[in-house]
Amino acid sequence: MKIVCVGGGPAGLYLGILARLRSGGRDEVVVAERNAPGTASGFAVTLGEDILDELYRTDPVGAARIRAAAHVWDSQLAEVDGETVHLGGRYGYSIGRARLLEVLAERAQEVGVDLRFERPTAVDGDPAADPLTADADVVVAADGVNSAIRTARADAFGTRIAQGRNRYVWFGTSKAFRPFTFTFERTDAGWIWFHAYPAADCVSTCIVECTPETWTGLGLDTMPADEAMRMLEKIFFRALDGHELIAPPGMGSSPWLTFREVRNLSWRDGHVVLAGDAAHTTHFAIGSGTVLAVADAIELAEQLYPGDGHDADVLPALAAYDARRRAVMGPIQDMARRSMEWFETVPVRLDGSDTVDFAWSLLDRRGDQGRLHRRLHDLTQVDRVREVRRRLTSARRVRRALARGEITRGQVLGELG
Ligand SMILES: Cc1cc2nc3c(=O)[nH]c(=O)nc-3n(C[C@H](O)[C@H](O)[C@H](O)COP(=O)(O)OP(=O)(O)OC[C@H]3O[C@@H](n4cnc5c(N)ncnc54)[C@H](O)[C@@H]3O)c2cc1C
Repeated sequence: MKIVCVGGGPAGLYLGILARLRSGGRDEVVVAERNAPGTASGFAVTLGEDILDELYRTDPVGAARIRAAAHVWDSQLAEVDGETVHLGGRYGYSIGRARLLEVLAERAQEVGVDLRFERPTAVDGDPAADPLTADADVVVAADGVNSAIRTARADAFGTRIAQGRNRYVWFGTSKAFRPFTFTFERTDAGWIWFHAYPAADCVSTCIVECTPETWTGLGLDTMPADEAMRMLEKIFFRALDGHELIAPPGMGSSPWLTFREVRNLSWRDGHVVLAGDAAHTTHFAIGSGTVLAVADAIELAEQLYPGDGHDADVLPALAAYDARRRAVMGPIQDMARRSMEWFETVPVRLDGSDTVDFAWSLLDRRGDQGRLHRRLHDLTQVDRVREVRRRLTSARRVRRALARGEITRGQVLGELG
């Protein structure tokens, strides 16, 4: 079998790795990436326990490298106009996007993926037009949110695109955030905020977001990008401790984006399948796009190579992948949309509300918390209760790490600090 992945992001690279591993190195797997090695937009992305479990289950060698390059953040807080509220019981991992792609690309080459950088393909959306993809048994459109393949076959895939309201930029900052931090600052033109989290390379991610009214009110819609960064550094001076913002790679004259929610009624058309952002997007506030792209790759590889000694028939395998992943993604996209809409209504939620109540609604923005958690949220503002919660969370993290084989029993005490 010949598999060609169009796009060398997390979805394409991980599918490539698993296809080689699960076919026992027999099948030809090409990953064609239009950019040069080391090109990565944005800074760090977050990962959770479930995907680490899945990475260790499917490729322990690669998983250990990803984990070694990732950073743990063991708490979360919200700062509202200088007042801090603690969001207890939360922790996670973050990894620089460039570093993640480097680790995946190295691993792909090690297991024999034919990885071709600076090799755009199907740029007009037609895999049949390029000899590289024309004779493939499976073409994986892992070409990102603006997928040319999806766009060219929008009717077959039943593509639906919805636009978020808020404006955002994915900045970095030289401030090394330890907790995952949401900071909300009041300006004359309304509220503006950032979502910041650490990365192992000392550059934290700092996603600045505001409503379109604040954006135009501050003049950010017409201001040159450099000037806008200096203005934002002043607005967030207190929260950034005077540190600078770092421009996203390749920042043009206007770095501002609006979120685009992509859904598809089908993820397959013949032997062409969508994976990752080409198939679905989730608002960045749930920090899951990379995780979901990798989860797509795992499901697709397991359908193509069921592990019973036989390869699956291609078309039924693609149909099973499509059915299973779409069923999983629907509720996740609904939850991400609730999270996005929560951020679109931040100004009304903030004005006049108690800060602890506001932070609770931030915590419960997906609507998945119960009454007990509300009570715990109030108690978490007490130092000693928070410390107990932090230790319990840490123990939970270490138990998961032990169970998936990331650490040995002898390392447990060191991990608990
Ligand atoms: C502000 C922001 C914050 C985010 N934070 C997080 C987070 O915390 N956690 C998380 O999990 N995710 C996060 N994400 C989402 C995450 O970055 C994406 O969901 C993820 O990268 C999707 O992976 P992918 O492989 O599907 O697509 P991509 O990573 O976009 O990769 C697609 C690749 O295809 C290549 N390509 C495109 N067209 C062609 C062509 N014709 N030929 C060859 N190559 C082509 C592109 O160059 C690119 O390398 C965030 C996104 C944003 C915008």
